[in-house]
Amino acid sequence: MYLKTVLVTGGAGFLGSHLCERLLSENCVVVAYDNLYTGSRRNIAHLEANERFFFVEGDVADLEATLKNRDGKVPRFDEIYNLACPASPVHYQARPLFTTRTSFLGMLNCLELAKRCGATLLHASTSEIYGDPVVHPQVEGYWGNVNTIGIRSCYDEGKRVAETLAADYIREFDTDVRMVRIFNTYGPRMHPQDGRVISNFIMQALRNEDITIYGDGSQTRSFQYCDDLIEAFMKYMALDKAVLREFFGKPGRPCIPVINTGNPGEYTIRELAEKTLQKMPQSKSRLVMKPLPGDDPKKRKPDITLAKELLGWEPKIPLDVGLDRTIAYFSGLSS
Ligand code: NAD
Ligand code: UDP
Repeated sequence: MYLKTVLVTGGAGFLGSHLCERLLSENCVVVAYDNLYTGSRRNIAHLEANERFFFVEGDVADLEATLKNRDGKVPRFDEIYNLACPASPVHYQARPLFTTRTSFLGMLNCLELAKRCGATLLHASTSEIYGDPVVHPQVEGYWGNVNTIGIRSCYDEGKRVAETLAADYIREFDTDVRMVRIFNTYGPRMHPQDGRVISNFIMQALRNEDITIYGDGSQTRSFQYCDDLIEAFMKYMALDKAVLREFFGKPGRPCIPVINTGNPGEYTIRELAEKTLQKMPQSKSRLVMKPLPGDDPKKRKPDITLAKELLGWEPKIPLDVGLDRTIAYFSGLSS
């Protein structure tokens, strides 16, 4: 017996591919939907032989039209995970209008589909909705500090309006939506040219190129290993809607299901660069400073109290272990 039929938008991306793998291991039928902007068939090549796995190439802005079968009907899904959106600043800034459109129309289409199927929808939101935060660590009740017209706005504001759409579908139609504000997450299958800090530093060290620290490297980030995030997704989706309603109805909590997930360990970018080089002593790379990109948040660290209370979850993989696994993955690619 198949457990559930699940749609994963962004299913050929870094996180999407790990999610598809996990869902298949739990006996689900999985449809990965992706336009391959930053994702790749290579990420899901090991899944393609599975008879419960299907890949559909398409833009999430045209979701229903692309998913229609020969009878003109859209298949029914029990669960939808909305991950379609470029996540690396380099890639989302290269096509800013596409990025905002993806976040807005993608979410609208996923919500419509979830409403029509009675599916449960998990949306991959982001710590970027907090912008350059003045509350530290960031709690879900914090509304954020976001520039509407900067180079990061296409992503930050796109993700914010996606949250707004979700909240209004919950209020107007009682659609079953769960949102996760994901803090920097890394691991195997990140694209080597992704441009995000961990993949950049490892690839630079492997190629004996300069390690590019933007600004003075004093800005901080908290790094979550991908398996920890996928575990949180699973626990969140397993919860009954009534349990969520009761949990989020309590005073002092958001009124809509939204939780932070991340690893609260906080590192400066310089510390990360030094740690990466220590783990790769054969590298001849040197640390160099480059200009800090516009609107780069100065610090970021999740408060994960809500996720702990709701899911009984906390991250298990420390940065040292996750970095070793990620270095091993990238070393395998380049050998
Ligand atoms: P990724 O770039 O590897 O994955 C995104 C996937 O979405 C790619 O496969 C890409 O081809 C696909 N995609 C992009 N636009 C699309 C469109 N219009 N239609 C269909 N597919 C489209 O990045 P990731 O790190 O795996 O991120 C996955 C999701 O998690 C994203 O929504 C991202 O915003 C969110 N997120 C990730 C992080 C992180 O640190 N990894 C942090 C916060 C939020
Ligand atoms: N960064 C860096 N060097 C790089 C890539 C990124 O110093 O080669 C910095 C970037 O300026 C930011 C942090 O690392 O302060 C995290 O960047 P990333 O693009 O991974 O994610 P963000 O959290 O900014 O979305």
